[in-house]
Amino acid sequence: MKFYSINRIAPSVSLREAVMNGLAPDGGLYMPERIPVIPKAFFNNISGMSIRDIAFVVADLMLGDDIDSADIREIVNDTFSFDIPLVKVESDIYSLELFHGPTLAFKDVGARFLARVISRLSDSTDSRNVKVLVATSGDSGGAVAAGFKDVPGVELFILYPSGRLSRMQLDQLNLPGSQVHAIEVLGTFDDCQRLVKEAFADADLRRNFDITSANSINICRLLPQMFYFFHAYASLVSSVGDIPDSVVISVPSGNLGNLTAGLLAWRMGLPVSRFVVANNVNDVTASYLRTGKFIPRRAVRTVACAMDVGNPSNMSRILDLFAGDYGPLSRFVKGYSYTDEDIMGSMARTYSADSYLLDPHGASALAALRDDLAPGEKGIFLATAHPAKFPRAVYDATGVSLKGRDSQDSSHRVPHPRISVSYEALKNILMNETASAVV
Ligand SMILES: *Cc1c(COP(=O)(O)O)cnc(C)c1O
Repeated sequence: MKFYSINRIAPSVSLREAVMNGLAPDGGLYMPERIPVIPKAFFNNISGMSIRDIAFVVADLMLGDDIDSADIREIVNDTFSFDIPLVKVESDIYSLELFHGPTLAFKDVGARFLARVISRLSDSTDSRNVKVLVATSGDSGGAVAAGFKDVPGVELFILYPSGRLSRMQLDQLNLPGSQVHAIEVLGTFDDCQRLVKEAFADADLRRNFDITSANSINICRLLPQMFYFFHAYASLVSSVGDIPDSVVISVPSGNLGNLTAGLLAWRMGLPVSRFVVANNVNDVTASYLRTGKFIPRRAVRTVACAMDVGNPSNMSRILDLFAGDYGPLSRFVKGYSYTDEDIMGSMARTYSADSYLLDPHGASALAALRDDLAPGEKGIFLATAHPAKFPRAVYDATGVSLKGRDSQDSSHRVPHPRISVSYEALKNILMNETASAVV
C-alpha cells in the first residue's frame, strides 16, 4: 500500500516512510491510496468475531503488503490487551466503552498500535534504536508513554510545557527504567512543538539516528481506530440478535481522528447510515456541517477539554475523502454542539434515568445521538474516556464521588530533566541518552 499526501505535491510513499515522516514534506497528511472494500458476506458473519480477529482482517487488507501477516496478528493482539464492551444504555442506544486501556481513554489504541508498528518497521532495516519525539499538552503524552514503554528498539522523548499538566498526567509520564523519557520545557505547548520540529530539521541528528514522531496526525495512530467501529457493529448485531436496518454512530470530536477513522471504516464497507459529530462550544466542525463555512478560531476551555480544538487537524483528511464536496458530506455527517451546561445535564440525566455514569466527552456524544436518532434506528456513541478521569465534573453533575487516580501517591516521582526553550538543550539530551544506552 502506498500513502499519498493530501496536498498532492510530495510523492506517494511506502508505509514505512508515511509512519516515519508523520507529515509529508509538502505539509500534507498521509492517506492510503486505495481503500480496500470488504465483501458484504463478511458483515453477515461478523457478530461472532472477536475484536482481535476483526482487527486482523482489516489491518491485513490495509498493511498486508508492508508487514507480514504473522507480525500484523501479533501487533493487533498486543494492541487490544483490554476489552472494548458495547453497553446498552437505553432503548436503541449503546455506549462503546473505549476507556478500559492503561490510561483510560481511547487514545491508548492508536498509541499502542503505532509503537508496535514503528518497532516492526525499524527492525527490518537496522538495529539501532529509533528515537520517537512527541510534544504533549496533556492527555496524549500518557497514552503514548504507556503505548511505547514495553516496545523494544524504540526510545520515546515526551516534551511537555512546565506547570501545565495535572498530577495524574505527570504520573503517567513517570516510567523510570523504561525507554520513555519525559522532558519539562520552560515554555508553552507551542514551544514544545517547535523544538520537536527543530529536531526533525537537524540534519546532523538525522544522520546519526532514525527519528520520528508519535504525533496524533500519524497515519498509524488513525488506522487502528477503524477496528473498533467494525467491532461496535459486530457487538450491536449480537446484542440485537439481528442485522439492524439503520445504524447511526455518534463521535465526540476535537481533532476529528475518530470521525476520520469511522469514515474510512464506512468506505471499507461498514454498514452505517450516517455519523453524528458532537462538539462542545468549540463548534468549528458542527458549524461547518450546518453552514458549509469552515472557520477555524481560538479554542476556549470547556468541561470536555479534550475537544477544545479550534482548528481540527483531520478536517483536511475528511474533505479529501469527500473530494471537498460539502453536499454529500453534510448529508452523511450531522453536527451538534453543546454548552458545558448541556453536557453536565446529559451526564445528570443519564445517571438518574439509566444509572449509567458518563464522562463529559461521552455525555456530549450521547446528547447528539438523542437529538439525531430517528424512531426504529439503532445508535452507538463512543465513550472516549473513563468517568474517573473527570471526577470533579462527574461529582458536580451526579453527586457521585469517584476516587480518581489523582489521589495516587506521587512521592516517588523522579524529577524530569528541565530545559529552557533551547534546541541545543534538547539536542544534548537526545545525544546523551543514546551515549548511555550504548555504554
Ligand atoms: C482526544 C479525545 C477526544 C477527541 O478525539 P478526536 O479524535 O481528536 O476528535 C474526545 N474524547 C476524549 C476523551 C479524548 O481524549
